[in-house]
Amino acid sequence: MSYTLKTNVHGACACGVAQFAFIAPPLSIVNCHCEECRKASGAAFTTWVTVERSTVLQLPDRHLLVMRVRETGIRYRCEVCGTHVYSADQFDKQFIGFPMGVIRRGLESAVVQANYCVEQRVAWFSPHDDLPNVANSVDFDPYVPNEPGRERHNHET
Ligand SMILES: [Zn+2]
Ligand SMILES: [Zn+2]
Repeated sequence: MSYTLKTNVHGACACGVAQFAFIAPPLSIVNCHCEECRKASGAAFTTWVTVERSTVLQLPDRHLLVMRVRETGIRYRCEVCGTHVYSADQFDKQFIGFPMGVIRRGLESAVVQANYCVEQRVAWFSPHDDLPNVANSVDFDPYVPNEPGRERHNHET
């Protein structure tokens, strides 16, 4: 993933009520194959764009359904159209996750960097990629590629 400029990324739900923006580049883009992500999307996996909260320029502040799917995880959906707009974690407050399918512009040249939770991958989906498998569902951390000056985030499990 290469960016010549710091570009703003914009996203919105299907009906347009819930909109967001953040400053590129994101920390990571990964396909998560865990059951929770499959249930949330209804698909074989969810592609997550993880950003630092400090880079978020806009989040929807109303018309949101707040879904507590785990003790710590919160998924926010548009209350009008049901689109999953973003997720946050009570412990990892510095990160926000956006499902890549809700992003409208700003990540056209971005590529997925890794697969997550592949031990939960469904048998009916055959990936055709050489992406690294970076975590299982027990060791769930936002994936941050090895770059100088960028620390991999870890939390106690
Ligand atoms: Zn909507
Ligand atoms: Zn997941």
